[in-house]
Amino acid sequence: SGIFGAYSTTNKPVLEEVYLGLYALQHRGQESAGIAWAEDGHVASVRGMGLLHNAIDQQRLAGESANCAIGHVRYVPLESSQLHNVLPICANYARGPVAIAHDGLVTNLAELTRQLEQRGAIFQSSTNSEAILHMMAQKSHMQPIDALVDALKKLEGSYAIAVLLEDSLVAARDPYGFKPLVIGERDGTYYAASESCALDIVGAKLLRDVEPGEIVVIGAKGMKSLRVRQERCGRCMHCSFEYVYTARPDSIIDGRSVYEARKEMGRRLARKSPCGGADLAAGMPDSGTISAIGYAQAAGTPFEMGVVRNRYVGRTFIQPTQKVRELGVKIKLNPIAEIFKDKRAVIVDDSIVRGTTAERIVSMIRNCGAAEVHLRIASPPVLHPCRYGIDTRKEETLAAVRMTLDELCRKVGADSLDYLTEEDLIAAIGLPEDKLCTACFTGKYLEER
Ligand code: 5GP
Ligand code: SF4
Ligand code: MG
Repeated sequence: SGIFGAYSTTNKPVLEEVYLGLYALQHRGQESAGIAWAEDGHVASVRGMGLLHNAIDQQRLAGESANCAIGHVRYVPLESSQLHNVLPICANYARGPVAIAHDGLVTNLAELTRQLEQRGAIFQSSTNSEAILHMMAQKSHMQPIDALVDALKKLEGSYAIAVLLEDSLVAARDPYGFKPLVIGERDGTYYAASESCALDIVGAKLLRDVEPGEIVVIGAKGMKSLRVRQERCGRCMHCSFEYVYTARPDSIIDGRSVYEARKEMGRRLARKSPCGGADLAAGMPDSGTISAIGYAQAAGTPFEMGVVRNRYVGRTFIQPTQKVRELGVKIKLNPIAEIFKDKRAVIVDDSIVRGTTAERIVSMIRNCGAAEVHLRIASPPVLHPCRYGIDTRKEETLAAVRMTLDELCRKVGADSLDYLTEEDLIAAIGLPEDKLCTACFTGKYLEER
């Protein structure tokens, strides 16, 4: 999911900016969208299903004068795609209005929910955010910010959250920093965003990343910082898949440019697996384009924009069924026959999950009359499910689990297939190994480190 919050210390209206911020984060979730703000001591919101422009009437926001608001674009597994799960979650509790937008997966949610229900809480949704809300409500003797910090201390797993309280905006990141979250500023308005590309759209300067375990509180007097835990844990688990696929290339996450990281993945892939004598290298748009540029540069192979993507189709993995998903690739990507005819082509993509995309694209390029099709993947094989938020990958559906490299190569119909190594992935991202989560590639989950 994508989250965005804004607080103007000079009392400027911020709702339209929150809308724009979410617009830049649409790639992080297309299931639903919502914006919440405080109005006369109550929380107000607009929410809906689907893409932002379907979910929210932009004109409706123009007349609102709130100087603090949060918003959410949501990515969910389909079974919980219902309106009552549209975020941000909003409530007026004993201490005033509160709204919460969350990216990540709280791994002890079931246990927390059970405890809260035993103490009388009645849940209306199955969201991570609602548990936080109930925990706050049960501590209504505390100041809202203290109750929030208290609740965050009980969460395990991953979270990047933006919280609207009556008089402040709070941005917090779990102690391992799984999910990205940055702070920006422009002319006395502060912003919290999943990715820095959302700061660019509102013309804000990227101040810094929220640190793992940090709680940034923005109010009338500016910004202050609290901690979930006093001691810094030292190790982080920044999601390496953000650099591979999830984030937009124009974002900077934890000090590293996603574009630079992707290009370096491609360069390293070329050095490991050069495919000498190929006539051209092409990326699978959009996810493989940048690593393909890096690959082509390092291998000395001409880069071609050989496959064209329909811009108006969402990411394939949002589609519900295998049937629709298979069709989705065809709807989305189309190779240019003239470019591939009689050529030896290298095709670069960011990752293989189920193998559907790879299989479809190789066969499409063969149908163009290509002499050879060599597939290069700019990340290591995805061998394990993600426990921290990308929950659509069941182990038994992962292509690299079900097949050996040779079998997979034959299955997708390529002349050769190769991946990036774990070492090269880490080196390309450029953060120390003990600051990165690579669990879906390596099985090194938090518990095993
Ligand atoms: P596949 O077709 O192998 O299932 O999915 C791989 C393609 O989907 C890649 O081109 C990649 O860009 C994109 N992708 C990345 N992460 C995910 C994910 O978590 N689930 C799915 N289904 N696709 C993903
Ligand atoms: Fe990211 Fe993979 Fe770790 Fe999940 S398991 S947080 S997708 S690196
Ligand atoms: Mg892709």
